[in-house]
Parts: sequence; C-alpha cells; structure tokens
Amino acid sequence: MQFDILTLFPGLFAGAFEESIIKRARESGSVTIALHNIRDYAAGRHKVTDDTPYGGGGGMIMKPEPIFAATEAVLGEQADMVPVILLTPQGRLFDQSVARELARHDRLLLICGRYEGVDERVHRYLATDEVSIGDYVLSGGEIAAMVIVDAVTRLLPGVLGDPAATFEDSHAEGLLEYPHYTRPPTFRGHPVPDVLLSGHHAEITRWRRQQAIQRTLERRPDILSSAHLTEEDLAYLARIEASG
Ligand code: SAM
Repeated sequence: MQFDILTLFPGLFAGAFEESIIKRARESGSVTIALHNIRDYAAGRHKVTDDTPYGGGGGMIMKPEPIFAATEAVLGEQADMVPVILLTPQGRLFDQSVARELARHDRLLLICGRYEGVDERVHRYLATDEVSIGDYVLSGGEIAAMVIVDAVTRLLPGVLGDPAATFEDSHAEGLLEYPHYTRPPTFRGHPVPDVLLSGHHAEITRWRRQQAIQRTLERRPDILSSAHLTEEDLAYLARIEASG
C-alpha cells in the first residue's frame, strides 16, 4: 500500500510514522509513505498557498492551484485510479468499515487542509472522497491523516504479528472487544476472572464473546444492531436485557 500525503507541514509526521507498527510496516515494504509539501507546488517567488476568502470574513483559505498541481504531479498517469481523499470535518465519518474499504486499495492520496479550509473547487473537482475522523474541528488534516494511515496499515496482510488480532478488535464486527488481563493473577485485591485461568478454551471463548456483547450493550448500544450475532449470542443478549 502506498500513501501519498499532501501537507503544508510535513514535519508534523516525524515520530508518528517512525515508531512501532508503522515503522516495521515501512521497513518490511508493506507500506510506503510519501510526504509532499504543497508549498513546493505553489507558483511564484513567494510560493503562496493561501489567500483571503471571497465575500469577506476571517481566516485564510488554501488556494486550489498548488493542491491540484501537487496531486497531478504526484499521481501522474495513475490520476484516475487512485482515491483522492480530502480530510475535512464535513466528510463521511471514518470508522472501521471505512478503514477496511480503504485497505483494499493499492494506493491512497490524502490531502490535509489548514486554516479555514480549502477552496471549494478542491472539494468538487479534485477529491474523489471526503473523510472526517469525528465530529470536532482540528487545526489541520495532518492528525486525521495519521489516524487513517494507522488504522488502515494494521489491516494490511503481514503487518501485525497475529493476523487474527484484527478480527477480534473492537468494531471489527460491530462489537467492542472483551476485557483483557495479564499477570499478576491478583492485583491490589482484584483477581483475574477464574475462567481465564481455567485452561478451558471453549469456556474462555464463550466468556469472551459474552463479555463483548455485554460491554457493547452497556457502552455502545447504538452499534449493537449492526453486529453479526449468532442464535446463541441473541439468546445471551435476551437474557442480560431481561435481567436488567
Ligand atoms: N472551517 C472548516 C469547517 O468548518 O468545515 C474547518 C477547517 S479546519 C480548522 C482546518 C483543516 O483541518 C480542514 O481543512 C481539514 O483538513 C482538517 N480537519 C479539521 N477537522 C477535521 C476532522 N474532524 N476530520 C478530518 N479533517 C479535519
């Protein structure tokens, strides 16, 4: 997978992409991340990338020309094949299913806005997708791009040591994940549930499934209706709902 990120502040990505899973994914060749400074594609001696809004009002707007020029130069002949994703609080909400959808592509180009945002012509005539990472406003798209790169990268084949890990992650199939425990067996008087120490794998699997259902019901009942539940799951859900 190749990520191309268009930004005015490439220095913001130092660190985020140089540690842990993303670092290893880059080293193994599972992902390539190319940072492109939009300013390099601005015309004129002053390399201006923003301007005042037509119609007045505060703040600056990112000009369309450098963003179009950067996208066209970076994608070249692949321009029609690669999703061009504009990060914006006005886009569709990013979640695990969008991450899975994006992970199916070979290459993604992400455009990070700044200031009051980008000229509407970028939204309408350049971006093929607009994505928001949540209903709040960030100062720029860089953190949103990091979120997307991270969430998509961990879904790519060979990136995680245990490929099955992502199947049980929260949101993978509409449920929050079950609780985890590690040593010591008792910490400050709080014991690990007996079933996890029992060595009985079928019991552990059932307990984890039930915990995931219960936890989702308590914390995120809004996502429970989209979960893939078996007859046994539904019976368990009915029991805990009935017991209040
Ligand atoms: N005035 C814009 C609005 O109300 O829609 C917000 C501009 S914001 C201060 C600057 C940039 O940060 C945006 O162009 C976008 O690239 C990025 N950004 C802010 N919030 C975001 C979010 N929730 N998801 C993705 N990108 C976001």
